[in-house]
Amino acid sequence: MSVQPRVSVVVPAFNEANSLPTLCRRIDQILTQELGETYELILVDDGSIDNTWDSIQRLTEQFPVHGLRLSRNFGKESALCAGIEMAQGEVVVSMDGDLQHPPELLALMIEKWRETGCDLVEAVKTRAQNEGTVSRLRAKIFYKVFSVLCGFDLSGMTDYKLLTRSAREAWLNMPERTLFFRGMTNWIGFHRETVQFQVPDIEDRHSRWSFTGLLRYALRNITAFTAVPLYLFAFLGLFFLFPAAILALDTLRRWFQGVAVEGFTTVIILVLLVGGLNFIGLSVLGLYLGRVYEEVKQRPRYIIRARTDR
Ligand code: UDP
Ligand code: MG
Repeated sequence: MSVQPRVSVVVPAFNEANSLPTLCRRIDQILTQELGETYELILVDDGSIDNTWDSIQRLTEQFPVHGLRLSRNFGKESALCAGIEMAQGEVVVSMDGDLQHPPELLALMIEKWRETGCDLVEAVKTRAQNEGTVSRLRAKIFYKVFSVLCGFDLSGMTDYKLLTRSAREAWLNMPERTLFFRGMTNWIGFHRETVQFQVPDIEDRHSRWSFTGLLRYALRNITAFTAVPLYLFAFLGLFFLFPAAILALDTLRRWFQGVAVEGFTTVIILVLLVGGLNFIGLSVLGLYLGRVYEEVKQRPRYIIRARTDR
């Protein structure tokens, strides 16, 4: 085994065979030639269906690359986790493999860490021109809902982060199966600093997120992170209890007075409203039950199929 590197860069890769060579070259340029750092590059093939794994194996010959191949596509967060668990560096940097996280920013992040002695450096997106209005709006709504429910404002946050040992340990110590890297690294606290960057326009790169995919992702992250939606229904119930009590008293009064025929409109509206709310409440419960089910199964977060030799 080689000497312990100072910087570990972890890159989850799903069908990134084309971009990985450029990524490695640019990372090496910055870390070795410009900063003179020792580093390791952990590339995690997250069940790709192109030749990402071949590409990773070839790259080990040129660069200090360690490759992990997961047994199937586990999702970005699990792939990141696999890489971060393996990292040996004094600091770990998580970075996307599609060149949307410019490697040149590494210099700034490392400098920030050195200058301030912080535990976490986060790369924050400034408004990207190349991002469509719809996707910006979607992200905005998600972050707004998330911040109202969870109390963390994650807008502009990315998974491009530098973690020192303490932050890395704290994150790895969280045992849940459903990972939300951005949210969890925020939750742990510590001294955090930010650097700004603009997401470069990558040709031939349209977002892989469909609307339903995004909705699932948002629901998964929110339910994995906060139980507030469950409590909201308790408040809603209380909120409706008061007018319902008044209405009940009024109905009884009419009955006693013998004028109880009117009022179908009220009944229909109430039935629809309460029925609808009941269904929503039940499905929220279902979502959480599903989360609990996933957690109690205690399955591993990922399974490693192969690794390149250290
Ligand atoms: N990724 C992954 N597993 C997946 C999906 C994505 O490892 O199931 C990786 C992908 O290769 C890239 C990073 O996660 O390095 C970000 O993915 P993508 O660019 O699709 O997401 P976006 O930029 O739209 O957030
Ligand atoms: Mg991307």
